[in-house]
Amino acid sequence: MNIDMIKEYKALSVFLLKAMQGSQLSDQGASKALGSLLESLQGAANASQIKRIHKQVKDLLVKEKPVDVDLLKATMQRLKDDLLAQSGVETDLRSLIDEFKSLVGMALHQIEGLSLHEKSSRELFLQCREELKEVSTPAAMSSYVSKFKRLFSLNSLIDDETGRERDELKKIISILADSISGLLLSSGDFDSGLDECVERLQRAQSLHEVQEIRELLLQQTKGLQARTRQMVEDVQQAREQVDDANKKVETLKKQMEKVKQEIIIDPLTRTYNRRAYDEKLKLEMMGYQRYGRPTALVIIDIDHFKQVNDTYGHRTGDGVLRILSDVMKKEIREIDVLARYGGEEFALILPHTPYRNALDVAERIRQKVEVSRFTYKGKPFSVTISLGVGSLKEDDTLEDYVERVDKALYRAKNAGRNRVVGEEDGL
Ligand code: GH3
Ligand code: MG
Ligand code: MG
Repeated sequence: MNIDMIKEYKALSVFLLKAMQGSQLSDQGASKALGSLLESLQGAANASQIKRIHKQVKDLLVKEKPVDVDLLKATMQRLKDDLLAQSGVETDLRSLIDEFKSLVGMALHQIEGLSLHEKSSRELFLQCREELKEVSTPAAMSSYVSKFKRLFSLNSLIDDETGRERDELKKIISILADSISGLLLSSGDFDSGLDECVERLQRAQSLHEVQEIRELLLQQTKGLQARTRQMVEDVQQAREQVDDANKKVETLKKQMEKVKQEIIIDPLTRTYNRRAYDEKLKLEMMGYQRYGRPTALVIIDIDHFKQVNDTYGHRTGDGVLRILSDVMKKEIREIDVLARYGGEEFALILPHTPYRNALDVAERIRQKVEVSRFTYKGKPFSVTISLGVGSLKEDDTLEDYVERVDKALYRAKNAGRNRVVGEEDGL
């Protein structure tokens, strides 16, 4: 066996092993083992020692990274067969070349696993793989070696780069995964497979793997985005529904308010009706009994209203009722309650009002009505009212109270109408 040949072969083997050691051995143990094999190889003195070491390297690599085992087995078998069939330098040489080829084949397989993203290195890699088949002489072997070295140096550069890239990607993806995880939790999505992604990421050795996980995460993110978008749409829709419902509630409230008003308002005069009057009078009695709050009542009756109807017609009569109501409303406070008590009779409840003040209010109203002018077919006419006034007394029943005021009104009528008579007057 040619000494130079062995030297060349040894140098090449050392280079290959170093390159492989630099490539991706996930297992620390495997990387160490490869280191010690490298040392033995450097100390190897002859071809058979080198061969033995090669075998160990192969075993290690097959264990570390699944190569095409069938192909490798076939190569080994062929090697064995050749060794059995032949002997001497020729055999040694050929088997060395074959072994060299199988070792280079494995190295190529290792490189292929890395990302050869540069076009030039990808081309060189394909060239090396093709040309390896043709290597059959020591001369071809050494010319092949220079090309292969170039590929390895190129690739190791890329490998450095990709190593950094991989670590950087790992970091970014970890952050991404964290934030997605936070989002998923806040959206109540616990069953996302994200944990599995993160675990895989921590184990990932090659850029390729990291890239795969990145893709997976990207899909997860897209899914999450879609779900989030859906959520936003749902919320928007819900908001619209709530707005709608609020509007309906608002309309209903207004309608209810109207109905409530209609229940207590007299439609012709827009004063309170008899029902409201009854309620308010009861409340006033309670206020008086509990807190001693004074309250007064005025009962108002239009004088000779039958005549108004008879002279100007019922519709004019209605008009008079309406206008008179407005005149009276202007003379009272917000808290006073003017109610249409009967056909042409009104009651005025005056809370917080002592008897004397009630008389004054009644008189003011009487005067305002007296000076009001109505017209029928261009002819003016006026109406007057009679008013009875009283205030609530201790021990009064509702009936007593109203009866006293009614009687005062009756006296006002009897005394000639168009006047105010208090419960204490004319007794
Ligand atoms: P007095 O001075 O004694 O009160 O005489 P009066 O004519 O006002 O009294 P009377 O009780 O005899 O007549 C009340 C009239 O009021 C009878 C009725 O036609 C009229 N009237 C009652 N309610 C209405 C109404 O809603 N619209 C109109 N136009 N007239 C009404
Ligand atoms: Mg009357
Ligand atoms: Mg009357």
